[in-house]
Formats: sequence, structure tokens, C-alpha cells
Amino acid sequence: MKVLASCLVFATLGWAQAPDTILINGKILTVDAAFSTREALAIRDGKIAAVGSTAAVRAQAGPSTRVIDLRGRTVIPGLIDSHLHAIRAAVSFSTEVNWIGARSLPEALKRIRDAASSKPAGTWLIVAGGWTADQFQERRRPTQAELVEAAPNNPVYIQLGYGWAMLTPVAYRTLGITDESKLPGGGQYERGPDGNPTGAVTGGQNAIISLFDLLPKPTYEQAVDGTRKFFTELNRLGVTGVVDPGGNNLFPSDYQALMQVWREHQMTVRVAYTLNGQTDGKEFDELKTLTQLVPMGMGDDFLRFNGLGERITVAMNNNNRPDETVKEKYYQIIRWAAGQGMSLTMHWGSNASVGQLLDLFEKVNKEVPIAPLRWSIAHLGDASEASLQRMKTLGVGWTVQDASYFGGAQTNATMPAVGLARKIGVNVGAGTDAHRVMSYNPFTALQWFVDGKTVAGGAVRGEKASREEALRLYTLGSAWFSFDESKRGSLEVGKLADLAVLSKDYMTVPAGEIGEIESVLTMVGGKVVYGAEPR
Ligand SMILES: [Zn+2]
Repeated sequence: MKVLASCLVFATLGWAQAPDTILINGKILTVDAAFSTREALAIRDGKIAAVGSTAAVRAQAGPSTRVIDLRGRTVIPGLIDSHLHAIRAAVSFSTEVNWIGARSLPEALKRIRDAASSKPAGTWLIVAGGWTADQFQERRRPTQAELVEAAPNNPVYIQLGYGWAMLTPVAYRTLGITDESKLPGGGQYERGPDGNPTGAVTGGQNAIISLFDLLPKPTYEQAVDGTRKFFTELNRLGVTGVVDPGGNNLFPSDYQALMQVWREHQMTVRVAYTLNGQTDGKEFDELKTLTQLVPMGMGDDFLRFNGLGERITVAMNNNNRPDETVKEKYYQIIRWAAGQGMSLTMHWGSNASVGQLLDLFEKVNKEVPIAPLRWSIAHLGDASEASLQRMKTLGVGWTVQDASYFGGAQTNATMPAVGLARKIGVNVGAGTDAHRVMSYNPFTALQWFVDGKTVAGGAVRGEKASREEALRLYTLGSAWFSFDESKRGSLEVGKLADLAVLSKDYMTVPAGEIGEIESVLTMVGGKVVYGAEPR
């Protein structure tokens, strides 16, 4: 009797510990230290319970375990974009038109035409970036006449990066811009070779940001809907985490949609978010007020506050020659942030001027060691060995994006020296900087890391990454920036079960086809958030 009872206890315990889900017969790229490949993986309570052979993992299954037969498919840890303006992209995702992946102008214009016919008359049609002329066979931007032809009765606004925006006459009329002097932020009409306005606006980043701010904002309901849809779109591409760097045209009120999705337990992408300084000269007060009730690290595994950035003061933003006053104001904020135990990420474009930023980081570091805070510099595509050495000494990380992917067939760009950075010991994360200046597709970024080619087929000079290295940067590498590398970024026992089953084998597909990979099944915390089980 006694023996029987203990058998029963053992059996009950056995069932209780059976995995909720197992994935078998696959090629699982674990991205562990040895970059091991395994056949199978077990998930229990949202975490990885086992990795190993199909036979060993199948032996753990109980009667209620869901079995997913991968049929040889490749599985990767969920991708983490360490610099994606996801909150901003999300609020307008359901109301904007998207040119990501369009290969010709007719295809792009068709998306405008389709939106015009499917939305109520007079609806704004906005393409807010994420494309380049070089992705089109025609290698040029649309003309105003083409946009009018596609949507004669709608206001149409097409933005290219932060340097150019084309508006149709209906759009100008709707905004009340009747002549050049009414353009905000120092904007100017672009003129063609004949001297006549082309319909586009130029004049630098401020002109475009100010112009965009005139456009109608999505309603709150549209923003919530857009957030859910954008996260699903990221899941379709195997993304399960982002580090969001705030950004231009993004205000504290814009975070509300994200927070509602979080409150309703509908997050399908894990978001670490930061706060920007908003108003020129008032940033310190704003940041102190905003963070009074939101300490560093507050939140959970789905939504967590990760400090400041990427624009900390307006005056230091894209400023290669900050004067002493500008630097002092910036220094006061970052010294305060260090005292508060905050992480921060700083947008910086050029290695030639980054010494000014590193001087300030070093000054703070003498008072408060910043290495434990995991500060980072975003972009810095031409980072030199000397800069990387200084970053290593400070414990400052580097987030790298595929900015040169949008270059033309001829390019002078150089690949960021990620291999060198890793050798020096700098923590590197990968990402896209979507969706104004770049597409959010992580696979086109992975392809660019590996083959060093632009969307138009041009070659980017310099060091390329191996497939292993690129994947590691896009998973574990990025996880470091939100203090998550022990929780996710690789498929190892005890980690969150965030993963993607791929449409093609990332390791063996020709390099030029990596960009076409999609996920067929994405899981976050062991829950299917995209796709159907391969049956
Ligand atoms: Zn930036």
C-alpha cells in the first residue's frame, strides 16, 4: 500500500512537471555560448524547460503536452531590435500607408490607390518614411502628378527620411499652406530644374518634423488598434522584443496606447521604453517630473522603463559642435540620471564628433560609475577603434542599425566595425532604427550584416558579419541593453520561451535570400502570437 501511494505521488509529480508544449524534429539554433543546434525544445510555464534530442524531449511529454512537429524547420530565439521606434510606429500603424518592401513605383502607388478606395473619402494618406527610392526598379521618388493620379480626392503626404516630403495640392489646401512662407520649421519648396516647385518640401530635419506635427493624429482607438497590429506585424518577422528609443514627433501622451495594450495583457512584443527630453531648454524639469513616479526598471517582462534617450536635450540632438552651455546643460541631466541609477541611450551619428559626448560620459563616470547602468550610443556607423576603446572602458554599449542598406548601387559607406567592437569587448546590439528612416524588417538587416549589400545591390565596404555573429547581435546582443540577457536572447533552459520558426533555413539559404525569410510560428513566453502550427 505504501509503495503504491508513493508511486502515485511520483506519477502526479511527473504529470505536473510535463511540458506544456514541445517542439520536435527541428533545427533549433539555440544561440548559446557554443552556438549549439538542437532538435527539440520543451516549454513549461512560459519558459524553456529542456533542449535536446527529439527522443529525449518527447520522453518528457505528458498526455496534455502540445506537440509541434517542426518537420526540419529552423527555429531561432525571438529577435530583439535594440533601436526601433516601435511606440511611434505603432500609434499610426493602422492609419498610415506603408511602402516597406515595395519593389517598384507602381507597386507603391497601388498601395496609395488601394488605401484611397478602402478608406472614407478625404482621409489623409500618409507614408511616414521607411522607404527609399533605391528600393524601386525606377530608382526615383514619386512625382506629385503620380500621387494625384493615385488619390485625386485625398490629402497625400509622403515623407522620405527626415529630408524630404511630398504633398499633393489637396494636402497643402487642407493644411492651409498657401505659399512657401507658411511652411513651418524653416521648410522650403523643392524646385525642379525649371525652377518651378515640384510639390515637395525640403529644408532639414526640423522642417520635416514640424511639418509632420501639422498632420492629424490617429484617434486613441486607432492608436491602440495600430499598436496591436504593429506588434503582430513584428511577430510575423520573428521579432519578440524591442528597445524603444523614444524619438521625434513622440510625446508622453503617445505612450498611452501602449500602456492600454499592456494593461489588457495583449503585449506580443516585449518593450523596454525610454523617455526623451521634449521642450528645448526645459528638458531637465520635464524628465525629473516624468520620472518621479517611474523609477528605472519599473515594469515587468512585457513593458519596462529603461531610462532616457535617444534625444536627451534638443540642443545636443544632431549637434556636432555643441558649445559649453549646451554641454553643461546636457551634463547636468546625465549626471542626475546616473545618480538615479538610470540607463540611457544617446543618438550620435559621426565618429568625428563623438569625442564631445564621450568626454561628458567620462566626466560623469568619475563621480558615478556608469558601467552598471549600461549606457549606450546609437548609430555611430563609422565608430573608430579609439572610440570603441573609450566605450569599452566606460562600459558603454553600441546599438548598430542597417542605415547603409538604403544606399544606392554605388555607395561609399563602410560597414560598422561590429567584429572589432566585440573583440575589444563592447556590447553590441543590432536593429533597424525603423520606421521613419528604415524598414523594420529584421531579416533585411540580417542580410545586410552578412552580405554587406544595399537594397539596390551596391556593395558596402568593410567587414561583414558571419550568420552566427549577426544572429547573436540580434538576440543576446540586443537583450543586454535592457538588462535581459539572462532572461532571453537565447534558447536555454530557464529562459523565456520567445522564439520564431522560420520559413527558410537562416543558416543555409543563399545570403541574398535572408531578407525574404519570415516567421511561420512565433511564440512569446511559450504562447503562440503569430502563425499556425505547422501540421
Ligand atoms: Zn537616432
